[in-house]
Amino acid sequence: MSLPQERRLVTAIPGPRSQELLARKQAAVPQGIGTTLPVFITRAGGGVVEDIDGNSLIDFGAGIAVTNVGNAAPKVVERVSKQVADFTHTCFMVTPYESYVEVCEKLNELTPGDHDKRSFLVNSGAEAVENAVKIARHATGRQAVVVFDHGYHGRTLLTMTLTAKNMPYKHRFGPFAPEVYRVPLAYPFRGPSDAYEQAVDMIEKQIGAENVAAVLIEPIAGEGGFIVPERGFLPRIADFCRANGIVFIADEVQTGFARTGDLFACEDEGVVPDLICTAKGIAGGLPLAAVTGRAEIMDKVHVGGLGGTYGGNPLACQAALAVLETIEAEDLVARARRIGEIMLPRLEAMKSRFPIIGDVRGRGAMIAIELVEPGTKTPNAAATQALVKACHAEGLLVLTAGTYGNVLRFLPPLVMPEHLLEEGLGILEKALGEL
Ligand SMILES: *Cc1c(COP(=O)(O)O)cnc(C)c1O
Repeated sequence: MSLPQERRLVTAIPGPRSQELLARKQAAVPQGIGTTLPVFITRAGGGVVEDIDGNSLIDFGAGIAVTNVGNAAPKVVERVSKQVADFTHTCFMVTPYESYVEVCEKLNELTPGDHDKRSFLVNSGAEAVENAVKIARHATGRQAVVVFDHGYHGRTLLTMTLTAKNMPYKHRFGPFAPEVYRVPLAYPFRGPSDAYEQAVDMIEKQIGAENVAAVLIEPIAGEGGFIVPERGFLPRIADFCRANGIVFIADEVQTGFARTGDLFACEDEGVVPDLICTAKGIAGGLPLAAVTGRAEIMDKVHVGGLGGTYGGNPLACQAALAVLETIEAEDLVARARRIGEIMLPRLEAMKSRFPIIGDVRGRGAMIAIELVEPGTKTPNAAATQALVKACHAEGLLVLTAGTYGNVLRFLPPLVMPEHLLEEGLGILEKALGEL
Protein backbone atom coordinates (compact mmCIF):
# COMPACT_ATOMS: atom_id res chain seq x y z
CA MET A 1 0.00 0.00 0.00
CA SER A 2 1.94 3.03 -1.19
CA LEU A 3 -0.60 5.64 0.00
CA PRO A 4 -0.34 6.77 3.61
CA GLN A 5 -3.26 5.15 5.43
CA GLU A 6 -4.46 8.28 7.16
CA ARG A 7 -7.24 10.84 7.05
CA ARG A 8 -5.77 14.21 6.16
CA LEU A 9 -7.70 17.40 5.49
CA VAL A 10 -5.72 20.31 4.08
CA THR A 11 -8.61 22.32 2.57
CA ALA A 12 -12.35 22.57 3.04
CA ILE A 13 -14.25 19.71 1.34
CA PRO A 14 -14.43 20.18 -1.62
CA GLY A 15 -11.21 22.15 -2.02
CA PRO A 16 -10.58 24.88 -4.60
CA ARG A 17 -9.19 22.63 -7.34
CA SER A 18 -12.10 20.21 -6.96
CA GLN A 19 -14.49 23.14 -7.17
CA GLU A 20 -12.87 24.27 -10.41
CA LEU A 21 -13.26 20.77 -11.84
CA LEU A 22 -16.83 20.59 -10.63
CA ALA A 23 -17.61 23.74 -12.64
CA ARG A 24 -16.05 22.11 -15.71
CA LYS A 25 -18.05 18.95 -15.06
CA GLN A 26 -21.27 20.94 -14.88
CA ALA A 27 -20.51 22.54 -18.24
CA ALA A 28 -19.57 19.26 -19.94
CA VAL A 29 -21.63 16.48 -18.31
CA PRO A 30 -25.44 16.43 -17.97
CA GLN A 31 -26.81 16.90 -14.44
CA GLY A 32 -28.46 13.48 -14.72
CA ILE A 33 -25.07 12.07 -13.78
CA GLY A 34 -25.15 12.93 -10.07
CA THR A 35 -22.23 13.38 -7.66
CA THR A 36 -22.24 12.08 -4.08
CA LEU A 37 -19.15 14.00 -2.99
CA PRO A 38 -17.52 16.43 -5.44
CA VAL A 39 -13.87 15.82 -4.62
CA PHE A 40 -11.88 14.82 -7.71
CA ILE A 41 -9.70 11.81 -7.05
CA THR A 42 -6.09 11.47 -8.14
CA ARG A 43 -5.00 8.35 -6.19
CA ALA A 44 -6.65 5.73 -4.02
CA GLY A 45 -5.61 2.59 -2.15
CA GLY A 46 -6.21 0.61 1.01
CA GLY A 47 -8.84 2.49 2.98
CA VAL A 48 -8.38 6.00 1.56
CA VAL A 49 -9.04 8.12 -1.53
CA GLU A 50 -6.83 11.14 -2.15
CA ASP A 51 -8.12 14.21 -3.96
CA ILE A 52 -6.57 16.81 -6.23
CA ASP A 53 -6.32 19.31 -3.34
CA GLY A 54 -4.23 16.86 -1.30
CA ASN A 55 -6.99 15.72 1.06
CA SER A 56 -7.06 12.07 2.08
CA LEU A 57 -10.53 10.73 2.87
CA ILE A 58 -11.58 7.55 4.65
CA ASP A 59 -13.44 5.44 2.12
CA PHE A 60 -16.65 3.83 3.40
CA GLY A 61 -17.95 3.40 -0.16
CA ALA A 62 -15.41 1.34 -2.15
CA GLY A 63 -16.82 2.82 -5.35
CA ILE A 64 -20.17 1.19 -4.43
CA ALA A 65 -18.86 -2.20 -3.29
CA VAL A 66 -16.44 -2.51 -6.20
CA THR A 67 -12.93 -2.16 -4.81
CA ASN A 68 -13.34 -4.93 -2.24
CA VAL A 69 -9.63 -5.78 -2.63
CA GLY A 70 -8.72 -2.09 -2.42
CA ASN A 71 -8.00 0.41 -5.16
CA ALA A 72 -5.07 -0.33 -7.47
CA ALA A 73 -4.54 -3.57 -5.54
CA PRO A 74 -1.00 -4.83 -6.21
CA LYS A 75 -1.99 -8.09 -7.94
CA VAL A 76 -4.54 -6.25 -10.11
CA VAL A 77 -1.93 -3.68 -11.16
CA GLU A 78 0.58 -6.41 -11.96
CA ARG A 79 -1.71 -8.58 -14.06
CA VAL A 80 -3.42 -5.70 -15.90
CA SER A 81 -0.10 -3.98 -16.67
CA LYS A 82 1.27 -7.11 -18.25
CA GLN A 83 -1.92 -7.70 -20.23
CA VAL A 84 -2.14 -4.15 -21.59
CA ALA A 85 1.30 -4.58 -23.13
CA ASP A 86 0.46 -7.99 -24.65
CA PHE A 87 -2.94 -7.31 -26.25
CA THR A 88 -5.99 -5.25 -25.30
CA HIS A 89 -8.85 -6.77 -27.31
CA THR A 90 -9.65 -9.41 -29.87
CA CYS A 91 -13.35 -9.95 -29.03
CA PHE A 92 -13.76 -13.32 -27.33
CA MET A 93 -16.42 -14.29 -29.89
CA VAL A 94 -13.94 -13.73 -32.74
CA THR A 95 -10.68 -15.20 -31.44
CA PRO A 96 -10.73 -16.38 -27.82
CA TYR A 97 -8.06 -16.20 -25.10
CA GLU A 98 -7.32 -18.24 -21.99
CA SER A 99 -8.00 -15.69 -19.23
CA TYR A 100 -11.73 -15.51 -20.12
CA VAL A 101 -12.05 -19.28 -19.83
CA GLU A 102 -10.10 -19.25 -16.57
CA VAL A 103 -12.42 -16.63 -15.03
CA CYS A 104 -15.43 -18.74 -16.04
CA GLU A 105 -13.86 -21.91 -14.61
CA LYS A 106 -13.24 -20.09 -11.32
CA LEU A 107 -16.81 -18.73 -11.18
CA ASN A 108 -18.21 -22.19 -11.90
CA GLU A 109 -16.12 -23.59 -9.08
CA LEU A 110 -16.66 -20.84 -6.49
CA THR A 111 -20.36 -19.95 -6.82
CA PRO A 112 -22.88 -21.86 -4.65
CA GLY A 113 -23.72 -25.45 -5.62
CA ASP A 114 -21.52 -28.27 -6.93
CA HIS A 115 -23.65 -29.00 -10.02
CA ASP A 116 -22.33 -28.67 -13.57
CA LYS A 117 -22.15 -24.95 -14.45
CA ARG A 118 -21.38 -22.55 -17.28
CA SER A 119 -20.44 -18.86 -17.11
CA PHE A 120 -20.06 -16.04 -19.60
CA LEU A 121 -18.85 -12.48 -19.25
CA VAL A 122 -20.39 -9.09 -19.97
CA ASN A 123 -19.65 -5.49 -18.99
CA SER A 124 -22.03 -4.35 -16.28
CA GLY A 125 -24.40 -5.59 -13.63
CA ALA A 126 -27.39 -4.50 -15.67
CA GLU A 127 -26.14 -6.44 -18.66
CA ALA A 128 -25.70 -9.55 -16.51
CA VAL A 129 -29.27 -9.26 -15.21
CA GLU A 130 -30.66 -8.68 -18.72
CA ASN A 131 -28.89 -11.80 -19.93
CA ALA A 132 -30.04 -13.93 -17.01
CA VAL A 133 -33.65 -13.01 -17.84
CA LYS A 134 -33.08 -13.78 -21.53
CA ILE A 135 -31.71 -17.21 -20.65
CA ALA A 136 -34.49 -18.02 -18.17
CA ARG A 137 -37.15 -17.11 -20.74
CA HIS A 138 -35.45 -19.12 -23.45
CA ALA A 139 -34.96 -22.16 -21.23
CA THR A 140 -38.52 -22.22 -19.84
CA GLY A 141 -40.49 -20.92 -22.82
CA ARG A 142 -42.26 -18.65 -20.30
CA GLN A 143 -42.28 -14.85 -20.11
CA ALA A 144 -43.18 -13.50 -16.66
CA VAL A 145 -40.42 -12.26 -14.35
CA VAL A 146 -41.08 -11.80 -10.63
CA VAL A 147 -39.11 -9.20 -8.65
CA PHE A 148 -39.40 -7.74 -5.15
CA ASP A 149 -40.21 -4.52 -3.37
CA HIS A 150 -37.06 -2.44 -2.74
CA GLY A 151 -35.21 -4.29 -5.52
CA TYR A 152 -32.54 -2.64 -7.67
CA HIS A 153 -31.22 -4.26 -10.82
CA GLY A 154 -29.88 -1.48 -13.08
CA ARG A 155 -30.72 1.39 -15.40
CA THR A 156 -31.37 -0.17 -18.82
CA LEU A 157 -34.96 -0.50 -20.05
CA LEU A 158 -35.45 -4.00 -18.68
CA THR A 159 -33.44 -3.55 -15.49
CA MET A 160 -35.02 -0.21 -14.55
CA THR A 161 -38.35 -1.95 -15.05
CA LEU A 162 -37.14 -4.67 -12.67
CA THR A 163 -36.08 -1.94 -10.20
CA ALA A 164 -38.64 -0.88 -7.59
CA LYS A 165 -37.93 2.77 -6.92
CA ASN A 166 -39.43 5.46 -9.15
CA MET A 167 -37.27 8.46 -8.30
CA PRO A 168 -34.60 8.73 -9.64
CA TYR A 169 -34.41 5.45 -11.57
CA LYS A 170 -37.69 5.30 -13.52
CA HIS A 171 -39.30 8.70 -13.35
CA ARG A 172 -40.47 9.80 -16.84
CA PHE A 173 -38.46 7.00 -18.50
CA GLY A 174 -41.47 4.83 -19.38
CA PRO A 175 -43.01 2.93 -21.04
CA PHE A 176 -41.44 0.00 -19.24
CA ALA A 177 -40.78 -3.56 -20.38
CA PRO A 178 -43.74 -5.95 -20.19
CA GLU A 179 -44.24 -9.09 -18.07
CA VAL A 180 -42.54 -7.83 -14.91
CA TYR A 181 -44.40 -8.42 -11.61
CA ARG A 182 -43.43 -7.16 -8.16
CA VAL A 183 -44.12 -8.97 -4.90
CA PRO A 184 -43.39 -8.12 -1.22
CA LEU A 185 -39.97 -8.60 0.38
CA ALA A 186 -39.55 -9.79 3.98
CA TYR A 187 -38.19 -6.52 5.44
CA PRO A 188 -37.72 -7.21 9.17
CA PHE A 189 -37.85 -3.53 10.25
CA ARG A 190 -40.95 -2.56 8.25
CA GLY A 191 -42.70 -5.77 7.35
CA PRO A 192 -44.84 -7.30 6.02
CA SER A 193 -44.24 -10.29 8.29
CA ASP A 194 -46.12 -12.58 5.88
CA ALA A 195 -44.16 -11.50 2.79
CA TYR A 196 -43.57 -15.09 1.67
CA GLU A 197 -47.26 -15.98 1.81
CA GLN A 198 -48.21 -12.75 0.00
CA ALA A 199 -45.56 -13.31 -2.69
CA VAL A 200 -46.66 -16.88 -3.37
CA ASP A 201 -50.31 -15.87 -3.39
CA MET A 202 -49.61 -13.16 -5.99
CA ILE A 203 -47.57 -15.55 -8.12
CA GLU A 204 -50.22 -18.25 -8.02
CA LYS A 205 -53.35 -16.12 -8.24
CA GLN A 206 -52.34 -13.10 -10.32
CA ILE A 207 -49.60 -14.39 -12.63
CA GLY A 208 -49.89 -18.17 -12.60
CA ALA A 209 -46.75 -20.05 -11.51
CA GLU A 210 -46.71 -21.90 -14.84
CA ASN A 211 -46.26 -18.55 -16.64
CA VAL A 212 -43.24 -17.49 -14.59
CA ALA A 213 -39.82 -17.82 -16.25
CA ALA A 214 -37.78 -16.42 -13.36
CA VAL A 215 -37.84 -15.07 -9.85
CA LEU A 216 -35.05 -12.51 -9.44
CA ILE A 217 -33.84 -11.38 -6.02
CA GLU A 218 -30.89 -9.73 -4.31
CA PRO A 219 -29.97 -11.89 -1.28
CA ILE A 220 -29.46 -8.60 0.57
CA ALA A 221 -31.22 -5.64 -1.10
CA GLY A 222 -28.49 -3.10 -1.93
CA GLU A 223 -29.80 0.25 -3.18
CA GLY A 224 -33.09 -0.58 -1.46
CA GLY A 225 -31.39 -0.07 1.90
CA PHE A 226 -29.28 -3.12 2.82
CA ILE A 227 -32.38 -5.06 3.73
CA VAL A 228 -31.48 -8.52 4.99
CA PRO A 229 -34.63 -10.58 4.41
CA GLU A 230 -36.04 -12.47 7.39
CA ARG A 231 -34.22 -15.79 7.83
CA GLY A 232 -35.94 -18.52 5.88
CA PHE A 233 -37.38 -16.19 3.25
CA LEU A 234 -34.74 -16.85 0.57
CA PRO A 235 -34.66 -20.66 0.96
CA ARG A 236 -38.47 -20.82 0.86
CA ILE A 237 -38.58 -18.72 -2.31
CA ALA A 238 -35.90 -20.95 -3.86
CA ASP A 239 -37.87 -24.08 -2.91
CA PHE A 240 -41.05 -22.63 -4.37
CA CYS A 241 -39.20 -21.96 -7.66
CA ARG A 242 -37.80 -25.49 -7.78
CA ALA A 243 -41.25 -26.99 -7.19
CA ASN A 244 -42.75 -24.91 -10.01
CA GLY A 245 -40.09 -25.11 -12.71
CA ILE A 246 -39.17 -21.44 -12.23
CA VAL A 247 -35.56 -20.31 -12.70
CA PHE A 248 -34.31 -18.80 -9.42
CA ILE A 249 -31.89 -15.95 -10.19
CA ALA A 250 -29.75 -14.39 -7.47
CA ASP A 251 -28.57 -10.85 -8.22
CA GLU A 252 -25.29 -10.87 -6.30
CA VAL A 253 -23.95 -7.83 -8.13
CA GLN A 254 -23.50 -5.88 -4.88
CA THR A 255 -23.27 -8.74 -2.34
CA GLY A 256 -20.69 -10.86 -4.16
CA PHE A 257 -16.95 -11.40 -3.78
CA ALA A 258 -16.53 -11.63 0.00
CA ARG A 259 -18.50 -8.46 0.75
CA THR A 260 -20.96 -10.05 3.20
CA GLY A 261 -18.52 -12.37 4.97
CA ASP A 262 -19.12 -15.21 2.54
CA LEU A 263 -17.79 -15.32 -0.99
CA PHE A 264 -21.46 -15.03 -2.06
CA ALA A 265 -24.33 -13.93 0.17
CA CYS A 266 -26.55 -16.90 -0.78
CA GLU A 267 -24.15 -19.18 1.10
CA ASP A 268 -25.32 -17.82 4.45
CA GLU A 269 -28.53 -19.86 4.28
CA GLY A 270 -27.25 -22.53 1.93
CA VAL A 271 -29.32 -21.24 -0.98
CA VAL A 272 -28.25 -22.54 -4.40
CA PRO A 273 -29.50 -20.32 -7.24
CA ASP A 274 -30.09 -21.66 -10.74
CA LEU A 275 -28.46 -18.52 -12.18
CA ILE A 276 -26.29 -15.98 -10.42
CA CYS A 277 -25.41 -12.48 -11.64
CA THR A 278 -22.15 -10.93 -10.50
CA ALA A 279 -20.38 -7.65 -11.26
CA LYS A 280 -19.17 -4.83 -8.94
CA GLY A 281 -16.55 -6.60 -6.77
CA ILE A 282 -15.51 -9.01 -9.52
CA ALA A 283 -12.59 -7.14 -11.08
CA GLY A 284 -11.38 -4.39 -8.75
CA GLY A 285 -13.04 -1.65 -10.81
CA LEU A 286 -12.39 -2.81 -14.35
CA PRO A 287 -15.72 -3.20 -16.15
CA LEU A 288 -16.73 -6.85 -15.91
CA ALA A 289 -19.83 -8.83 -14.99
CA ALA A 290 -20.89 -12.44 -15.30
CA VAL A 291 -23.80 -14.83 -15.48
CA THR A 292 -23.13 -18.24 -13.95
CA GLY A 293 -25.67 -21.03 -13.90
CA ARG A 294 -26.76 -24.60 -14.35
CA ALA A 295 -25.23 -26.05 -17.50
CA GLU A 296 -28.56 -27.45 -18.73
CA ILE A 297 -30.18 -23.99 -18.56
CA MET A 298 -27.22 -21.99 -19.88
CA ASP A 299 -26.54 -24.36 -22.77
CA LYS A 300 -30.10 -24.20 -24.07
CA VAL A 301 -29.49 -20.88 -25.85
CA HIS A 302 -28.48 -21.26 -29.54
CA VAL A 303 -25.03 -20.29 -30.85
CA GLY A 304 -24.74 -16.50 -31.16
CA GLY A 305 -27.71 -15.87 -28.87
CA LEU A 306 -25.46 -14.43 -26.16
CA GLY A 307 -22.43 -12.17 -26.22
CA GLY A 308 -21.22 -8.64 -26.90
CA THR A 309 -18.20 -6.87 -28.34
CA TYR A 310 -16.38 -6.09 -25.10
CA GLY A 311 -17.70 -8.78 -22.76
CA GLY A 312 -14.81 -10.39 -20.89
CA ASN A 313 -12.23 -7.90 -22.11
CA PRO A 314 -8.73 -9.34 -21.47
CA LEU A 315 -7.72 -6.53 -19.08
CA ALA A 316 -10.88 -7.07 -17.02
CA CYS A 317 -10.31 -10.85 -17.00
CA GLN A 318 -6.78 -10.43 -15.67
CA ALA A 319 -8.14 -8.08 -13.01
CA ALA A 320 -10.77 -10.66 -12.02
CA LEU A 321 -8.14 -13.38 -11.67
CA ALA A 322 -6.08 -11.01 -9.51
CA VAL A 323 -9.13 -10.22 -7.37
CA LEU A 324 -9.82 -13.90 -6.73
CA GLU A 325 -6.14 -14.50 -5.89
CA THR A 326 -6.19 -11.54 -3.49
CA ILE A 327 -9.42 -12.63 -1.77
CA GLU A 328 -7.85 -16.01 -1.12
CA ALA A 329 -4.32 -14.87 -0.24
CA GLU A 330 -5.52 -12.19 2.19
CA ASP A 331 -8.53 -14.19 3.44
CA LEU A 332 -10.85 -11.28 2.71
CA VAL A 333 -13.91 -13.37 3.58
CA ALA A 334 -12.65 -13.40 7.17
CA ARG A 335 -11.73 -9.69 6.88
CA ALA A 336 -15.31 -8.88 5.88
CA ARG A 337 -16.62 -10.78 8.92
CA ARG A 338 -14.17 -8.96 11.16
CA ILE A 339 -15.35 -5.59 9.77
CA GLY A 340 -18.91 -6.56 10.66
CA GLU A 341 -17.82 -7.62 14.14
CA ILE A 342 -16.25 -4.21 14.68
CA MET A 343 -19.01 -2.12 13.12
CA LEU A 344 -22.21 -3.75 14.34
CA PRO A 345 -21.63 -3.45 18.11
CA ARG A 346 -20.44 0.15 17.76
CA LEU A 347 -23.47 1.06 15.67
CA GLU A 348 -25.78 -0.76 18.10
CA ALA A 349 -24.27 1.30 20.91
CA MET A 350 -24.94 4.47 18.87
CA LYS A 351 -28.51 3.29 18.34
CA SER A 352 -29.10 3.08 22.08
CA ARG A 353 -27.69 6.62 22.50
CA PHE A 354 -29.39 8.21 19.50
CA PRO A 355 -33.08 7.37 18.99
CA ILE A 356 -32.80 8.79 15.46
CA ILE A 357 -31.27 5.42 14.52
CA GLY A 358 -34.23 3.09 14.00
CA ASP A 359 -32.37 0.05 12.76
CA VAL A 360 -28.82 -1.30 12.46
CA ARG A 361 -28.39 -4.15 10.01
CA GLY A 362 -26.25 -5.92 7.47
CA ARG A 363 -23.70 -8.71 7.22
CA GLY A 364 -19.93 -8.67 7.00
CA ALA A 365 -18.76 -5.43 5.42
CA MET A 366 -22.22 -4.54 4.05
CA ILE A 367 -23.67 -2.58 6.97
CA ALA A 368 -26.27 0.17 7.26
CA ILE A 369 -28.25 2.30 9.68
CA GLU A 370 -31.82 3.40 8.96
CA LEU A 371 -32.76 6.85 10.28
CA VAL A 372 -36.23 7.69 11.62
CA GLU A 373 -38.08 10.40 13.48
CA PRO A 374 -37.21 9.51 17.09
CA GLY A 375 -39.74 7.18 18.69
CA THR A 376 -41.40 6.29 15.37
CA LYS A 377 -40.62 4.41 12.18
CA THR A 378 -41.22 7.49 10.04
CA PRO A 379 -38.29 7.73 7.58
CA ASN A 380 -35.96 10.66 8.24
CA ALA A 381 -34.37 11.54 4.91
CA ALA A 382 -33.51 15.09 6.02
CA ALA A 383 -31.41 13.85 8.94
CA THR A 384 -29.75 11.33 6.63
CA GLN A 385 -28.69 14.11 4.25
CA ALA A 386 -27.43 16.25 7.14
CA LEU A 387 -25.44 13.35 8.54
CA VAL A 388 -23.87 12.57 5.17
CA LYS A 389 -22.87 16.21 4.74
CA ALA A 390 -21.29 16.30 8.19
CA CYS A 391 -19.33 13.09 7.53
CA HIS A 392 -18.13 14.34 4.15
CA ALA A 393 -16.96 17.64 5.65
CA GLU A 394 -14.86 15.63 8.11
CA GLY A 395 -13.29 13.49 5.40
CA LEU A 396 -15.41 10.36 5.73
CA LEU A 397 -16.92 9.19 2.45
CA VAL A 398 -20.31 7.56 3.08
CA LEU A 399 -23.20 6.67 0.78
CA THR A 400 -26.95 6.72 1.22
CA ALA A 401 -29.52 4.15 0.11
CA GLY A 402 -33.09 3.12 0.76
CA THR A 403 -36.50 3.37 -0.80
CA TYR A 404 -37.15 6.29 1.57
CA GLY A 405 -33.67 7.83 1.20
CA ASN A 406 -33.11 7.36 4.94
CA VAL A 407 -30.37 4.74 5.02
CA LEU A 408 -26.67 5.38 5.51
CA ARG A 409 -24.69 2.48 4.10
CA PHE A 410 -21.13 1.44 4.80
CA LEU A 411 -19.09 -0.51 2.27
CA PRO A 412 -15.43 -0.17 3.22
CA PRO A 413 -12.80 -1.86 1.08
CA LEU A 414 -12.14 -5.18 2.80
CA VAL A 415 -8.47 -4.28 3.13
CA MET A 416 -9.29 -1.16 5.20
CA PRO A 417 -6.89 -0.86 8.17
CA GLU A 418 -8.75 -1.13 11.47
CA HIS A 419 -7.57 2.25 12.77
CA LEU A 420 -9.31 3.93 9.82
CA LEU A 421 -12.45 1.91 10.38
CA GLU A 422 -12.50 3.02 14.03
CA GLU A 423 -11.75 6.62 13.08
CA GLY A 424 -14.58 6.61 10.54
CA LEU A 425 -17.03 5.29 13.13
CA GLY A 426 -15.84 8.00 15.53
CA ILE A 427 -16.59 10.69 12.93
CA LEU A 428 -20.05 9.24 12.43
CA GLU A 429 -20.70 9.13 16.18
CA LYS A 430 -19.61 12.74 16.60
CA ALA A 431 -21.82 13.83 13.70
CA LEU A 432 -24.79 12.01 15.25
CA GLY A 433 -24.12 13.77 18.54
CA GLU A 434 -24.12 17.17 16.85
CA LEU A 435 -27.25 16.48 14.81
C1 LIG B 1 -25.24 -1.94 -9.08
C2 LIG B 1 -26.22 -3.03 -9.21
C3 LIG B 1 -26.72 -3.44 -10.46
C4 LIG B 1 -26.36 -2.75 -11.74
O1 LIG B 1 -25.00 -2.86 -12.02
P1 LIG B 1 -24.35 -1.84 -13.08
O2 LIG B 1 -22.95 -2.35 -13.24
O3 LIG B 1 -24.42 -0.48 -12.46
O4 LIG B 1 -25.15 -1.95 -14.32
C5 LIG B 1 -27.59 -4.52 -10.50
N1 LIG B 1 -27.96 -5.16 -9.38
C6 LIG B 1 -27.50 -4.79 -8.17
C7 LIG B 1 -27.93 -5.55 -6.96
C8 LIG B 1 -26.64 -3.70 -8.03
O5 LIG B 1 -26.22 -3.32 -6.83
